[in-house]
Amino acid sequence: MPIGGRKVPPVAVEKEHARVASTISGREVDLPPMWNRMFEPRVLTDYGPEGFAAISRLPGGESLEWCYGCGKCTPVCPVDMVGEYGPRKIHRNVQTGTDLFAVADLWLCTTCGNCLRVCPKRVDMIAIMPAVREAALSSSAVPAELQDVFEKTFRLGNALGQSQRRRAQWAESAGVPVRILARDPAPVDVLFYVEDYWSFHPRGQDAARAFARVANALGIDWAILGPEEKTLGDSQRLAGERGLFDSLFEQVTATLAKYEFRRIVTPDPHAFNALVKEYPQRGQSFEAQHYTQLLAPLISGIEWARELNLRVTFHDPCYLGRQNGEYDAPRTLIGAIPGVELVEMGRCRENAYCCGGGGGGMWLDGFTSDYTSERLAERRVREAAGTGADVLVVCCPYEVPRFSDAAKSTGHDDLRVCDIIELIDEATRIGTAGG
Ligand code: SF4
Ligand code: SF4
Repeated sequence: MPIGGRKVPPVAVEKEHARVASTISGREVDLPPMWNRMFEPRVLTDYGPEGFAAISRLPGGESLEWCYGCGKCTPVCPVDMVGEYGPRKIHRNVQTGTDLFAVADLWLCTTCGNCLRVCPKRVDMIAIMPAVREAALSSSAVPAELQDVFEKTFRLGNALGQSQRRRAQWAESAGVPVRILARDPAPVDVLFYVEDYWSFHPRGQDAARAFARVANALGIDWAILGPEEKTLGDSQRLAGERGLFDSLFEQVTATLAKYEFRRIVTPDPHAFNALVKEYPQRGQSFEAQHYTQLLAPLISGIEWARELNLRVTFHDPCYLGRQNGEYDAPRTLIGAIPGVELVEMGRCRENAYCCGGGGGGMWLDGFTSDYTSERLAERRVREAAGTGADVLVVCCPYEVPRFSDAAKSTGHDDLRVCDIIELIDEATRIGTAGG
């Protein structure tokens, strides 16, 4: 049967009525034809191997054909909850003739990793999707909004298309000194890798300034690269642009080689993921931390100015939690803030629902809206609002803009969205009000 055809009903092959002698009693037993009924093998032979072969030959694409359709991934895939998606469906579609290289499904996976967590066959969508996307890059299938981000990153070194000269502008209004290594290249303990959204997005800049004040209050020896910093581009890699990631890797490591530092700390779980997983594979290993990991052991040393009296809920970023195993550092920080009560959402920690921003999803909201009933961020905001929290706190630079927009579009304007570091900063300052 050709690929893409409908499954045929099984053909029953009933052999002749038979008489066989029992090996125990020696008596002859009558076997009617139904005892000999056989079904011609069909599942494997109904469909040709071509669809899987094209994917399996890509490095990283091997595991799609290992799926045996158990369906465990279906209830945990965030995209399946708002659309017709999920690894099991992808497997079935490829089996029945869908060309994954050419369909919209290819761009919907956020590489959140929740399917891999439960899959007994280790079907790895975090490897499959980037591999197939990379192979599809030369075709016209790449969504225009993603192509635009690739080009901005290639030309300017950041996804927002901003001038590199503006990288450290946020620091000018931090109210505390922020050291830039190009101006003051002495050895430093913490090289703070700010990444794109804390460098350029207005709400990210608020968080960056809060970090500067808290880090200085804790006496941390830290500095930034400023205009020399470029994105590490991990989300661009997962969206299929491995070549761009490799090019950025060369540029970033050349810059890092100019300075002496003990560790790299970043607020961006995607940059953190690149530093701990991708850089060592390319021969560069750094001691890397997410900012919550840097601050959690130090937070008891901070001087609080007031109680906030807030009920908050926390969204685990996929690339800090599920992908890299850190669930406690953010909760340690939240728990330390005076007057803050944490109430968890039903889906949290390992099973946290994805915000939709990973794997290139950050730049694909327009595209995905044609294939999903609502944005993942909107669904998550409704879960957050359902806890009765005043604030949805996050610790990934993608999430404040995503969830703030989603809070407005779902009518939850009263749900404040902010980074943990902003609450810490607020509680150390007298007379500041939450935004
Ligand atoms: S959990 Fe794994 S094996 Fe089961 S249906 Fe999903 S991808 Fe296939
Ligand atoms: S990685 Fe996440 S979004 Fe992608 S298929 Fe798996 S569960 Fe769905």
